[in-house]
Amino acid sequence: MNRLPCKIKRTFVAGLPHGEDILSAVEKICNEEQIAAGIFSIIGAVRGAAFGYYEQDRKRYRTIIRDGAYEIISCLGNVSIKEEKLFVHAHVLFGDEDGACFGGHLMSPATIFAAELHLQELDGEPPVRRYDETTGLFLWG
Ligand code: ZN
Repeated sequence: MNRLPCKIKRTFVAGLPHGEDILSAVEKICNEEQIAAGIFSIIGAVRGAAFGYYEQDRKRYRTIIRDGAYEIISCLGNVSIKEEKLFVHAHVLFGDEDGACFGGHLMSPATIFAAELHLQELDGEPPVRRYDETTGLFLWG
């Protein structure tokens, strides 16, 4: 596997807009700031959650959608290139009113109630995702 040495180029902190989808909001900032490589974290809350569980044997995501109000306890992600386009990949842990947690591969719609983004743009060549036969996923490689 190729390893890309990366340096942090710019760091952004931003409040994400109420009512927008998390992935869309991050993509929008990356497009506006011309960020092709980055890492980010988000904390906050959503109204409605969508996330995926990758069924490894079937090589496909099962989508899980939950209505309701949840904390974004932790959302970690990265920005790279997939099929010559910007691609935002994130995993998320949501928490409910009792503090119980659930989560997985972040999907849309996950509607922001309030959210704080910490995004670090990486300098140099952006990582590129390529289809991997073994896993059925687009991986860095
Ligand atoms: Zn994932």
